Amino acid sequence: MASKSGQLAHQEAQREAAMALLLEAGAVSECEVDPGIYINQHRGTEGARDLGLRLIKVKDRRVSAFKNRVELSDAIDLAFGDADDRCELCAKRAKAG
Ligand SMILES: [Zn+2]
Repeated sequence: MASKSGQLAHQEAQREAAMALLLEAGAVSECEVDPGIYINQHRGTEGARDLGLRLIKVKDRRVSAFKNRVELSDAIDLAFGDADDRCELCAKRAKAG
């Protein structure tokens, strides 16, 4: 049985891989000044899903964290949920002047 920390690391690896697919597909963009903040580009997740499925077919290393397409799909949805319409940190800075 996998340890809890091992499972967490696995989830984190999946999230990172999913976010990379979303970035590559243009579904999200990363804030230029705040690394780790992702902005929703309102193109949906289809592009990232298609890309992920293509990579799974050729057993690309970038999708090695996923056992199957369901895991891939779930991770993409989860990661996409972390993307906001704007970077809150930049919005706060703009407000502060
Ligand atoms: Zn920002």
